[in-house]
Amino acid sequence: MKRVGVIGGGQLAWMMASAAQKLGIELVVQTPSPHDPAIAFASETIFAPIDDAVATAQLASRCDVITFENEFVNLEALAPLAEQGVCFRPALQVLSPLLDKYDQRCYLKQLNLPVPKFVALDCEFNSEAIHELLLDAQLNFPLVLKARRHGYDGQGTFIIQDMNALQQRLESYFNQQEWQSLFLLEEFIPFERELAVIAARSSTGEIVIYPIVETQQEEQVCRRVFAPADISSSVVAEIEAIAHTLLNSLQAVGIFGIELFLTSDNKVLVNEIAPRTHNSGHFTLDACKTSQFEQHLRAVCDLPLGNPALQYQGAVMINLLGYEYAQNDYIVKRQQLTEIEGSHVHWYGKSKSRPGRKLGHVTVLLDSRNPTQSIGIAEKVESLWYGDV
Ligand code: ADP
Repeated sequence: MKRVGVIGGGQLAWMMASAAQKLGIELVVQTPSPHDPAIAFASETIFAPIDDAVATAQLASRCDVITFENEFVNLEALAPLAEQGVCFRPALQVLSPLLDKYDQRCYLKQLNLPVPKFVALDCEFNSEAIHELLLDAQLNFPLVLKARRHGYDGQGTFIIQDMNALQQRLESYFNQQEWQSLFLLEEFIPFERELAVIAARSSTGEIVIYPIVETQQEEQVCRRVFAPADISSSVVAEIEAIAHTLLNSLQAVGIFGIELFLTSDNKVLVNEIAPRTHNSGHFTLDACKTSQFEQHLRAVCDLPLGNPALQYQGAVMINLLGYEYAQNDYIVKRQQLTEIEGSHVHWYGKSKSRPGRKLGHVTVLLDSRNPTQSIGIAEKVESLWYGDV
């Protein structure tokens, strides 16, 4: 039996549990809070912050391989463990160019992968200096300001219309004394759609790619995922080639989520790489022959990769986001959601709800491909869940 250490005990680790059981793998979790979802299914838990490398040393002593459900780790502090022979999958050097959004953009650009124009905000924060920086980088407003590290679910990502708004935003960071992270500025892409793809690579270099999906965000947070995306075969081929180039050049092992923009003239740009299982792949739990969670465990445990194909004509995944501060398990609403034909409700068991928090998701399996029907299903789920909110 293999023992897999997982850094992070949120819903992504929780969703690995049934795959782990199926494959005869034990999960040992490092996570800060006894209320975190994965605790319920872990064989053992080490209660410690994600970036606590001393705790990760303990984790290493209790498992064969360590993987990540949360990438907000301290790579420098983990490096001595890797030198002592601890097996991280993906390896620390794979994570290294990806954890900072600016470094990630530079890495992708160096691979000649298409990305929005970008620049590190490394000048004085006065309008003349910023103006000059933008001129040099050939960037104009509107722009997107991003915290280089620790951004998730749109936290730390701001669409900025003009210099005034940019200065106000930066000042608000100064005032909050949160001025730790650095920023990146990038071109605002007036995308026609957002797409995502989940890909896995094994230690022997085998790659499998899941069907490409369309994702819909509201206020920079993922709300809906439609699988498969209604895109041309040439866009599919281009995105699959991007996944191959990226995973091979990283020598990645495990699942990677790749978020993309598609413009109205069919141009594909890479937005972001997640070196782990990803929200855009949750549909795979119910809709695909091998879920992204099983695939990830297969890759990190050197088991043969599974078939990523859809078993249905399509699927719609809708995130159930918190819309209030409450202690509530929403039993009645969850029951109503299970009554929708073809639906599978996944509830992460979090004890507290707050606006925007991911509490669960619903996947509805489809027996035909009809975009209008898929949108209707998403609207039905959302009106049941959010009601008049
Ligand atoms: P996070 O890491 O917090 O998910 P992202 O960088 O993925 O942040 O951005 C979240 C969302 O913000 C994207 O899904 C997209 O809707 C929007 N966004 C991000 N970058 C751009 C951009 N350059 N142009 C237009 N929209 C963007």
